[in-house]
Amino acid sequence: MAKVQEIYGKLVFDEHTMQERLPSATYKQLMRTIKEGEPLDIEVANVVAHAMKEWAIEEGATHYTHWFQPLSGITSEKHDSFIDPIDDGHAIMSFSGKELIQGEPDASSFPSGGLRATFEARGYTAWDPTSFAFIKDEVLCIPTAFCSYNGEALDKKTPLLRSMRAVHEQANRVLALFGEPHQRVVATVGAEQEYFLISEDDYKKRLDLMLTGRTLFGYAPCKGQELEDHYFGAIRPTVNNFMKELDDELWKLGVPAKTKHNEVAPCQHELAPLFANANRAIDQNLLTMEEMRLLASHYNLVCLEHEKPFEHINGSGKHNNWSLAADGKNLLEPGDHPMSNLRFLVFLAGVIQAVDDYQELLRMTAASAGNDHRLGANEAPPAIVSMFLGDDLGQVVDALIQDKDYTSHGPTEMDLGVAELPNFLQDNSDRNRTSPFAFTGNKFEFRMPGSEQNLSDANMVLNTAMARSLKKFADEMEGVGEDGFRSAALAYVKRTLRDHQRIIFNGDGYSDEWPEEAHRRGLADHRTTADALPCLVDQKSIDLFSEFNVLDEAEVRSRYEVKLEKYNKTMNIEIRTMKRLVRRDYLPAINRFAAEIAENTWKIKQMLPDAPVEPQEKKLKTLVDGAAKINELLSRLHELHYASLEVADQQERANMNAHQIIPVMDDLRDAVDAMEIIVAREQWPVPTYNEILFYA
Ligand code: ADP
Ligand code: MG
Repeated sequence: MAKVQEIYGKLVFDEHTMQERLPSATYKQLMRTIKEGEPLDIEVANVVAHAMKEWAIEEGATHYTHWFQPLSGITSEKHDSFIDPIDDGHAIMSFSGKELIQGEPDASSFPSGGLRATFEARGYTAWDPTSFAFIKDEVLCIPTAFCSYNGEALDKKTPLLRSMRAVHEQANRVLALFGEPHQRVVATVGAEQEYFLISEDDYKKRLDLMLTGRTLFGYAPCKGQELEDHYFGAIRPTVNNFMKELDDELWKLGVPAKTKHNEVAPCQHELAPLFANANRAIDQNLLTMEEMRLLASHYNLVCLEHEKPFEHINGSGKHNNWSLAADGKNLLEPGDHPMSNLRFLVFLAGVIQAVDDYQELLRMTAASAGNDHRLGANEAPPAIVSMFLGDDLGQVVDALIQDKDYTSHGPTEMDLGVAELPNFLQDNSDRNRTSPFAFTGNKFEFRMPGSEQNLSDANMVLNTAMARSLKKFADEMEGVGEDGFRSAALAYVKRTLRDHQRIIFNGDGYSDEWPEEAHRRGLADHRTTADALPCLVDQKSIDLFSEFNVLDEAEVRSRYEVKLEKYNKTMNIEIRTMKRLVRRDYLPAINRFAAEIAENTWKIKQMLPDAPVEPQEKKLKTLVDGAAKINELLSRLHELHYASLEVADQQERANMNAHQIIPVMDDLRDAVDAMEIIVAREQWPVPTYNEILFYA
């Protein structure tokens, strides 16, 4: 244990290190910037930069980088060494305040959705002192925001930070009404990361996995997840070693990795950290994903972060646990008597209103080519956003809606009937894995996001929509005198719950009846990314983001463009990979095997004219028919692909990809998979699911 305490946060320039290394006045000023958002002047930055550099060099760093998240959602870095040559032929190591607070990467190759004309290729990175700098592979990484020459956000972090400020401001107005003013309200996030680990040897033999992150072909393995023996099962030794190293590396980086276990699907695992403020939690999640990919190679493994690497078994999500904390107090903590916990009810009603009013935007944040294969596939929540409150809170809300009284049972004690076992308290919030947005005791768990996604968008929407709910409440209540406040607030809560009760659904989200019921309730059901993206540029969304200064209209439109383009580009890569594999690997293998059967059967007939060769002939026919069908589907895919490339409008192209091309890709896959199970194993050109998913 001592070891963990020694290494934890070792590679992070955190509050503790700052306090140790900075002159006390500088430390205090920096804390005011971090905690209260006070601007930071260059003198202070110079002192911080110097201390940071000295510390980093002691920890073995030679370079620094501004670490940022362009609109692709993945992290970017460009390493600059600290080296500063001097006249006598030696070099000193230098790092100035200016270099700390501002960088100027060439922005021309990052997606900007039309925000940045090429003649204005300059982009700036700006230090985000609220997320600690850290050392990764001898490089001092400084978390930064990334914006264009004109100050438009070109990244994921900037609007997230703006949304955090918005929710902080509005929550403070509400808290002031409760006599608790001037608090620091932050959105908190705990991101549960699912992933697959497979052997590097298999991976290298699968072009589809290498180029697209998922298998475009593959028949269901003989054994899937039906025995439910993988979930929480004993972890295989190689994987266990990987997980141990991963924990160690993450702890050094100050990432509070907490829980690790095997997931439902074979080869699937999960890592959950302790929650942190949303900005830091997202940086830490990105770091976690990067470490996972990197460290897997130490064990001849490959970490797959795609949402659906394998058909027929579960895909991977990234549950976004979210709440608001005021000076460290969780505002979604119901306490033992939620019915009389008015502050909690106001915040709860705020979330319900936010999720109902902006259900489409929330759905949009989880939209990606990869996640389309997961949402609604009866393993992940459906593409319809709804909220689950659990028994107790559900009854509280029902009572409020119906204007009735209700006393919570409080936690009940469970007696297991075995004297030796301790009795324990039964949690009030039960589990409903089928709900996209579930209350889990003192936070909400948004389960739609995919494993590969950057959670900034989801939290930006949540925070902003929540800021709006809180603003509406504060606007209405600030005119009410202190005496009338509690009854007015309660009436407000009841009205809000009544207006938004359609979003609450405590039943089975996987059932066939739910989509019908949801449609009757008027809930949005956007099945694909192509359908989900347009709401981003609805006037309603633009108004929301501009009201809270999170994104202006140009920034919103650019994000929409980037998402559309990314979807279409991903589809283009998948289609090309699919065609290439069919032409060059699968068809030749099928034809070769068919020819071999034909030849052998012919030889048998020569020697034994009466031999029973019907099975061979039948198989040959199946192979020949199969190849013909594959050829036909391949031509169809090819034509549609070329037609889609002619469609200049990106939304139209996305629609075509989602609604015309994907069905053909599915058929082509099925046709190839049907051949996989009859072609001789050693002649099949790639490792199959049985081999990939069940390695030693
Ligand atoms: P489970 O989902 O199995 O119930 P936990 O409730 O322990 O697991 O936590 C799941 C994730 O939610 C963890 O990352 C945890 O740190 C995070 N979490 C817990 N409380 C909060 C909170 N107030 N805000 C945000 N995330 C939280
Ligand atoms: Mg969970």
